[in-house]
Amino acid sequence: MKKFSRLIVVLLGPPGAGKGTQSEMLHKEFGVPHLSTGDILRDSIKQGTKIGKEAQNYMHKGELVPDDIVFNLIESRVNEDDCANGAIFDGFPRNLSQAKNFLNLEYVKNADLVTSILVNISDADAVKRLSSRRYCPKCNKIFSLAVKPPKLENGTYICDNCGTELEIRDDDKIETIKNRLSVYHSFARPMLDLFDERAILRIVDGNQESTEVSKLIIKELS
Ligand code: AMP
Repeated sequence: MKKFSRLIVVLLGPPGAGKGTQSEMLHKEFGVPHLSTGDILRDSIKQGTKIGKEAQNYMHKGELVPDDIVFNLIESRVNEDDCANGAIFDGFPRNLSQAKNFLNLEYVKNADLVTSILVNISDADAVKRLSSRRYCPKCNKIFSLAVKPPKLENGTYICDNCGTELEIRDDDKIETIKNRLSVYHSFARPMLDLFDERAILRIVDGNQESTEVSKLIIKELS
């Protein structure tokens, strides 16, 4: 496996493509943190911060949170010590303006490898995956009723990890899923074109077992 002094990988793809799973795999493989703007925003909502309160209105509807909020969060996060050797970006950037600002960050310019990986899945598969997704509100673990159902106790799905009752994420409800997909399609193309022009776009087929997708991603980074 290659060694990098700063490795930056951006995981792209529609909601439900498995970006979170693949980011965790890359985090374990390369030892750099997994930065998910969705997770950071959900934490801010849980903690009741000003940013969380503002973000909630957009997230609830499946819309994008304003660029300046998300960019400020990322800019301060990458300056933390654990990001010195790089990071795996999941859910950021999400549109052309975020992508341009991202590529202009000194943090990114100084990296010795910057790659974006598009994990491609169809809309029908995205809907299937997201509507069968459950999460643990305590430890944030994600489960799939379709792929590997969690334990069922008295008619309730519970977390394998900590036994907490699983929930459906607010934005994994069917109407919001449809909106998230349409938001993805309207904003992703120009960003993908930019990454392609810069020759930093790789594409992998996400319609297969996550372990197979991981192998393809690792191959792209070798
Ligand atoms: P995710 O967990 O990545 O699917 O993100 C959940 C929600 O958080 C999205 O539907 C957006 O409302 C918001 N969000 C996450 N990342 C971004 C971003 N980079 N720009 C704007 N909104 C974001």
